[in-house]
Amino acid sequence: MLAGVLGIAYIVQVVATWIDFWGLVGGLAAPPLRPAFAGLGYGNPSAVMTVSILLTLPAVAHLGFGSRRRAAASTALVLLAIFCTIASGSRAGWLAVALTTVVTAVAWLLSGEHRDTVRRALQERGARIAIAGVGIAALVVAALFLPGALARFGAGGEAVRLGFFQRPAAHHRRLRVLCFQRDGWKCVYCGTEGNRLTLDHVVPKSRGGESVWENVVTSCAPCNLRKGNRLPHEVSMELHKKPRAPAPVLFIRLAAPKIPDGWQPYLTGLSTA
Ligand SMILES: [Zn+2]
Repeated sequence: MLAGVLGIAYIVQVVATWIDFWGLVGGLAAPPLRPAFAGLGYGNPSAVMTVSILLTLPAVAHLGFGSRRRAAASTALVLLAIFCTIASGSRAGWLAVALTTVVTAVAWLLSGEHRDTVRRALQERGARIAIAGVGIAALVVAALFLPGALARFGAGGEAVRLGFFQRPAAHHRRLRVLCFQRDGWKCVYCGTEGNRLTLDHVVPKSRGGESVWENVVTSCAPCNLRKGNRLPHEVSMELHKKPRAPAPVLFIRLAAPKIPDGWQPYLTGLSTA
């Protein structure tokens, strides 16, 4: 139960990261397998993978493969754990799963009784269809994940890991700088460059304003203070430029030095666009 919940929660988070990443790239691409641990805010994905496997083992041992329903639940848990391992981008985890699968299969087939079971099963039409289905699904998954997996094998370890620990603050700074850059390092209200720059929500958060590019502008500290929780026209202030989202390519280029190194392999070809 716990294994299932954790596995699903983890997958939801990973997929959310992928969606972020696709937003940045501007289209669907091979899912990045753990680029700089991005989006995995609460912990090391290898640890998540380990916990998911550790929880899966007793769960499967408890459920067993006695009845059809139990076998189905056990299989689902094992598949979930395998998917978590793939998505964690942990190369050691991938190796471990591959080895375990091969060793388990060989050990299982060494017994003549099990070989007979397989032989009998292969003569059934339903079993053959099921095996073909699993095979096709495996091929689709392999095609989807292979580019990400290869990039992951080509990527370094330690530098990426370091980036993870510095990530949250750095990410926030990056967005801040990006906003300042978009607005030319000037207050959008008074045009000053001299004062301390801050980020201002045009429609204040307290009035339902969102933290989106169209609602966040560069403002000097005095203007920000003067505006407070009001709309610009209420304090007769004027926006000299309508805030817009930076163009995707510009966004990537502006952020380029700060994009996690692990993402770079996936972004090649975009920077020249
Ligand atoms: Zn100002």
